[in-house]
Amino acid sequence: MTKEEFEKHLELYGIAGKDKELLKRALDFAEKIHEGEKRLSGEEFITHPMAVALKLAKLKMDIPTIAAGLLHDCAEYQSSALKEIKRDFGEEVSFLVDGVTKVDRVKATGFDRALESVKKMFLALAEDIRVVIIKLMDRLHNMETAEWLPEEKRKRIAQETLMLYASLAERLGMWNVKAELEDLSMKFLYPKEYEIISVELKKRAPERERHLKKILPLVETELQKENIKIIEINYRTKHIYSVWQKLHRYEGDWSRLSDLIALRIIVPDVKSCYAALGIIHKLWKPVPGKFKDYVALPKPNGYKSLHTNVFTEEKITIEFQIRSEEMHKEAEAGIAAHWAYSEAGKPKEGFKKIGKKFNWISQLQEWQKELKKENTTSEELLEALKIDFFKDRIFTLTPKGDVIDLPRGATPLDFAYHIHSEIGNHATGARINGKLVSFLMELKSGDIVEIITQKGKKPTPEWLSLVKTGLAKNRIKRALRIFPKGSFIHPEAKIIEMKIYGKNRVGFIKDITSVYSKNKINIQNLISARGGNEETPIKITFVQKNPDQAEKIKNKIEKISGVKKVTYALK
Ligand code: MN
Repeated sequence: MTKEEFEKHLELYGIAGKDKELLKRALDFAEKIHEGEKRLSGEEFITHPMAVALKLAKLKMDIPTIAAGLLHDCAEYQSSALKEIKRDFGEEVSFLVDGVTKVDRVKATGFDRALESVKKMFLALAEDIRVVIIKLMDRLHNMETAEWLPEEKRKRIAQETLMLYASLAERLGMWNVKAELEDLSMKFLYPKEYEIISVELKKRAPERERHLKKILPLVETELQKENIKIIEINYRTKHIYSVWQKLHRYEGDWSRLSDLIALRIIVPDVKSCYAALGIIHKLWKPVPGKFKDYVALPKPNGYKSLHTNVFTEEKITIEFQIRSEEMHKEAEAGIAAHWAYSEAGKPKEGFKKIGKKFNWISQLQEWQKELKKENTTSEELLEALKIDFFKDRIFTLTPKGDVIDLPRGATPLDFAYHIHSEIGNHATGARINGKLVSFLMELKSGDIVEIITQKGKKPTPEWLSLVKTGLAKNRIKRALRIFPKGSFIHPEAKIIEMKIYGKNRVGFIKDITSVYSKNKINIQNLISARGGNEETPIKITFVQKNPDQAEKIKNKIEKISGVKKVTYALK
């Protein structure tokens, strides 16, 4: 792509005047930094940031984000570039570029058991949802051009894309991006399966087309008869990766894949959605158990639509997705739809400042709800884009890339004890990002921490003041034999692990933890990463100071709304 073509595309996306001038300036800047650099395809490197910026423009992201898309690899190649970007393009653009550079540190390797933590760390380092979106577009373009990479690297990147990026796209409701990332990853990781499925889908295409040609006009006339305005009817075949996953579930039986095509009907409003659904069900019998009302009960990431499968002919079923124009826009672009800019350069929809920090999924859910209601100033808009769900946690890495999730203020000794008590007990020093540091050093998100151990080394009582987490304190006390294993402070004191089952909601964890604080109990460890539903409990570890304390706490927690079951046991 040439610079002229790039400018033409910007105009196509409605970017002109001052905005276009700024982006041209950013392009010139990036071009200078990347001068002489080539991509493995032989193209000039600058074609990559240009492609990323255009993807962002297509999503209708704001101008600072598109500019950051052009500049996103500059700081990586020339460390002084960030200062110049701040000088020439301002604080906001340089903040976004810096965020992109920081998240580059996060790598998901192999089948990481701490994948959930990796995702959180990614978000915590990004600090701003727009950084995540820039990274998604960056990864999408790298995957589109991955055929030029050496095989081993290509596979590693594809694996990471599947595990980390596709799932982040899903959480942000960016379905198209998710589907594209999954298909590209599958093509490189499982080329044989990819080939078989795409060939099979192609073979089945004519039959589908024939079928659709019969159905589409019928749907149109029936809807028109009932005066339901059709904004758009379109259809799309399922993407290859999702067909593959379904085939796994159906043991490779293609005949059970009923919903290879989804017919999408877009109507003006919610009322028309239900009316259209009624008409479809009158025309054809619905498949039992396949009707899903995501309008009344949206998916956790905010997705809304009515889904139903119907028997159109003997043995042939078709999936219908019915949604309003607004739902459609959101389903296509996900979270990005919310700050699509109007011509005037002002955000179309407002944001509300996010106050509380919680489990990031429910946070996003809440957020999406708020988006619709509020109209706010651009200052509040910027505030809302910040990811501050994890203000109190930091995400650090072992040299191998495992994520250790710690409270803010944790030190290298906390890190060591969280890996294993033996590593803690024999620690003699620590390196952060390759530099030798003292045990007093506070860790930051993204730090790579290496603990140096020595045989025969033992903890000292001073260590108790160097650590932040209860787990590390207990392990040090145990090593110092301040009390025998299993009993603490008081002969009756015991470490208790309590499990709380229930439906997570906003304020759930806070309500639970406040029971502890009211009873003056320090929580030593709280695990809620995947908790908060009926199967996976929230786990809380604490020291019981008298024999019936756990029972008392249990009774109080059981009264909290949403709590289904509470159990506890000695740890
Ligand atoms: Mn890049």
